[in-house]
Amino acid sequence: MIITNKAQALYLHMPFCLKKCHYCAFTSFPAPAGEGVFSYLSLIKKELEWRKDFLAPLKTIYVGGGTPTSLSLNALEKLGEIISPYISDKLLEFTVEANPGTLNREKIRLLKDLGVNRVSLGAQSFNDEILLKMGRAHTAAQTLEAYNLLREEGINNLNLDLIIGYPEGRESFINTVKTAISLKPEHISLYDLKVEENTRLYEEVAKGEIILPEEDEVVLYWEEAINLLEENGYERYEIANFARNQQYSRHNLTYWENKPYLGIGLAAHSKVGLYRFWNPNTMLEYREMLLTGKNYGEEKLTLEEDAKEEIILRLRLKTGLNLQEFQKKYRRDFMAEFGDKIQKFIELGLLFLEDDRLFLTRKGSFVANTVLIEFI
Ligand code: SF4
Repeated sequence: MIITNKAQALYLHMPFCLKKCHYCAFTSFPAPAGEGVFSYLSLIKKELEWRKDFLAPLKTIYVGGGTPTSLSLNALEKLGEIISPYISDKLLEFTVEANPGTLNREKIRLLKDLGVNRVSLGAQSFNDEILLKMGRAHTAAQTLEAYNLLREEGINNLNLDLIIGYPEGRESFINTVKTAISLKPEHISLYDLKVEENTRLYEEVAKGEIILPEEDEVVLYWEEAINLLEENGYERYEIANFARNQQYSRHNLTYWENKPYLGIGLAAHSKVGLYRFWNPNTMLEYREMLLTGKNYGEEKLTLEEDAKEEIILRLRLKTGLNLQEFQKKYRRDFMAEFGDKIQKFIELGLLFLEDDRLFLTRKGSFVANTVLIEFI
């Protein structure tokens, strides 16, 4: 029996950016003039009030985007006013995504005053040529400047996002990883470059203007990056996420541990118990949804569907899938059901079993999608 707990994790989507990056398929667009941002914020406020019964006292808040730090000081202040009724002394982690070139001392001080204690900085690369190819709105020097400013202002929990798989050559990529490590952030996320439809990158690849590295080459980059990160004290606690001194992203662990979360704003998704609902990605439809008070999209998962999600998410984590807990939660014996497949993957060196837990090996993590699909 699934207990339909309320969400202790809140995500807020800020869809505004300085400009569109070439690979970006997120719901984001250049910021409208001031009033447009404020009218979006009033919609967010409305949605939060509408959905507040899904919330328990929050443990984590994550403001993502988009580029939340592209908001003006006044808009950030307004955002703080909207969130503050949902903050209690139970809150452990309050993350805001930031991009270099959109931060200054005043903004950082304001974020801290609002209770922000973790910043995730979109570095992506420390090679200016690659940043230009990515269409990023900043240079490597601006990333360093933003990072140092955050540290100076006392943000002591920092993540750097990096992209893996751009055609830049080994040396450039490894140099980016080394630079990131030298800054000693508490957390580093490595994102595989995905070529999504309706992006400039998609067109560039289709026209042959950009030739992406072969998969095997990217696996070598991964291998080298993981080695470097681990040698420098970063624990690979999730396939693509590394933390020093167990400073994991508590908010993202909510997703990976298949726990309830509420997402507010354009294109945000929520999952509370077996109930999943999501918002549209245009302002017009978002406004309409709030007027009618009807979810844009929703579904009630079966226990079986939820179990599949649990398997996929848990196996991405270093802690793996606890087979006893799985059996207790879903009344299903995972080993009895998948024993043959598991044995096959163990023999191939892609999975391993220890103390009633199932894990992906490092080799398995490079072909995770192929392995995980066998269990759904
Ligand atoms: S900053 Fe992030 S959300 Fe904005 S366009 Fe670039 S990748 Fe997309």
